[in-house]
Amino acid sequence: MAKIKERTPMPTREAGDRKKDFGEVASGYTKEMAVQEANRCLQCKNPTCEIGCPVGISIRDFIKNLQTEDLDEALATIERSNTLASVCGRVCPQEKQCESKCVLDKTGRPIAIGRLERFLGDYGKTKD
Ligand code: SF4
Repeated sequence: MAKIKERTPMPTREAGDRKKDFGEVASGYTKEMAVQEANRCLQCKNPTCEIGCPVGISIRDFIKNLQTEDLDEALATIERSNTLASVCGRVCPQEKQCESKCVLDKTGRPIAIGRLERFLGDYGKTKD
């Protein structure tokens, strides 16, 4: 079996910057990071990750769109089920929901679905 790659780390702001404001610690994936993480997805025939999503997002499909760098379609795929991608990408307990049902969870390295959702929600806000 091929070695499972590590999850793409979430970048964080430097402590020196953080002490000056009440902004977030996590600064979010760049496009390159998001595509790198999406490319870890196995595009399962039976996407068990989706069982764990209470709003029924087509997780496999939006990740596929990210793999091909079609950010607009990736966001549109999420928004067919949920218009709060930025919020849910931050506050949903993904480790107990979608990510816990990802087939890679048994390796301890499930796809970082929440981080990808956050990235796409934030991407959408840059287009407003
Ligand atoms: S279960 Fe994990 S690897 Fe499979 S489609 Fe869902 S996110 Fe990708």
